[in-house]
Amino acid sequence: MSEKYAGVKFETVFVERRAPTDECIGELTFWCKKFSELGIAPLHETGSHGNLSARTKNGFIITGAGTNLGNMSEKEFVEVVSVNENKVNTIGLVDPSSESTLHHAIYSVRPDVNAIFHGHDTLVMENAEKSGIPVTEKEEAYGTHELMEQAKKLCKNNYFILKNHGIIALGVTMKEAGERAEKMHMLAL
Ligand SMILES: [Zn+2]
Repeated sequence: MSEKYAGVKFETVFVERRAPTDECIGELTFWCKKFSELGIAPLHETGSHGNLSARTKNGFIITGAGTNLGNMSEKEFVEVVSVNENKVNTIGLVDPSSESTLHHAIYSVRPDVNAIFHGHDTLVMENAEKSGIPVTEKEEAYGTHELMEQAKKLCKNNYFILKNHGIIALGVTMKEAGERAEKMHMLAL
């Protein structure tokens, strides 16, 4: 399983220090709750194992670092407006998810995708080899450039596995990404 969570590995730059507002937040909250309830993003001591985002006009809205996806408040979402190497420029009150650079990389190479949902679905991962779901070649630590590169190689697929870490579901809409993750979870039951 992946290393213990120890906070974000980039520098958060707050372009604006306020909770972001976007119409996607309501539906994103719905999917966060669903991921938590189904166990696609299980809880650990300091938050949930997973992070969900949706594209906006200026970038994307993502769950905050170390948040409990089952009980998100509006203040716990962050808008990532740009990424410059190790600096993540945001509108928000908390650090964005530790996987924000991963989401950013996938949005850059998949302009058709408007939602990226990530969870640590142990059920799916236990059966990964048998199920034929694409898996990244190498295990890499969360929040690293290496993990980002591994994911970029596979993200032509709308559902894939980060080796020994978790699942990524992509969608043109949040509904599509969410239902994709839900379906794969149910198939693994
Ligand atoms: Zn993860």
